[in-house]
Amino acid sequence: METTQCLIIGSGPAGYTAGIYLARAGVEHMLVEGALAGGQLTQTTTIENFPGFAEGISGFELMEAMRNQAKRLGTPMQSAIIKSIDLSNRPFVATLDTGDTIAADTVIVATGASPKYLGLDDERKYAGMGVSACATCDGFFYRKKTVAVVGGGDTACEEAQYLSSLCAKVYMIVRKDHLRATEAMQQRIAERENIEVLYNTNAVGLYGNNGVEGAHLVRFMGTDREERFDLPIDGFFLAIGHTPNTSFLNGQLELDASGYIITQAPTTATNVPGVFAAGDVADPRYRQAITAAASGARAAIDVKDFLQ
Ligand code: FAD
Repeated sequence: METTQCLIIGSGPAGYTAGIYLARAGVEHMLVEGALAGGQLTQTTTIENFPGFAEGISGFELMEAMRNQAKRLGTPMQSAIIKSIDLSNRPFVATLDTGDTIAADTVIVATGASPKYLGLDDERKYAGMGVSACATCDGFFYRKKTVAVVGGGDTACEEAQYLSSLCAKVYMIVRKDHLRATEAMQQRIAERENIEVLYNTNAVGLYGNNGVEGAHLVRFMGTDREERFDLPIDGFFLAIGHTPNTSFLNGQLELDASGYIITQAPTTATNVPGVFAAGDVADPRYRQAITAAASGARAAIDVKDFLQ
């Protein structure tokens, strides 16, 4: 069994930044990268909102740079997935998919939150070519264009509202005959002249030769009023929620109703002393690369303090 003072789980901006800070603080640590080395940003094209890159940078290059920085400073990395972890006693013991185990005095969970998709083949086909799960990240690319937001909850309304200040027209594609968002939020949507809500509507596909040019929609799906039609759009934004990657924790950390790890603000401490959470896995609100990186730094500082 390997031993370490701090096990970092995850290799997105939160995990790599935690590694950078721990390496520079002289804390012995180890980072397990998971199935997606570099995290979610490796799945997208240009990042324009991470400070320091005047011309923007590709998500892959940004994460390579973070990885190289952590490596150079001395963060040991393993390409493996944590299958389970026992948090009942310190040192905590993590079991990897390789069968190996790691005993750690402290743990930083930085495993991210995966956006939910409808499960359409076209979502994969047009990934980065008109399909997005983050209006704050990609809205800027659709200035003065027409977009659709899928979802009817508070998040979808927030995304639609955000996009409506950039785009010429925003459609909301809502499965039900009403929005699930709060009254106040519904009111704000109603007040935006360039937002149109399409109720009782399902998206069943996308079309376009050079990226998304429209969506195939069905109104009153599965009923005798069923009606199929195409909606010309430039961007298709999913806003149907995220799944925080916490299943390997097996209920040992306190989570909120949506499955995000609860931390004790202003720190990154969880309900288990010695276990810290950073990045999207503990952040239902911001979910940005810069905020994830920042909380990785905070978690590393919290670990250093805890060990002292
Ligand atoms: P992630 O980047 O999600 O990384 C999680 C890590 O945990 C991964 O390395 C994964 O392999 C690992 N992991 C998961 N489970 C395990 C396990 N059991 N064992 C070991 N490792 C595990 N943000 C911006 O600021 N600007 C943008 O332009 C932008 N564009 C985006 C475009 C898309 C398509 C998407 C999906 C997101 C975008 N975001 C953007 C959001 C940004 O990617 C996230 O906010 C950020 O990556 C979160 O970082 P993180 O470190 O918390 O987690």
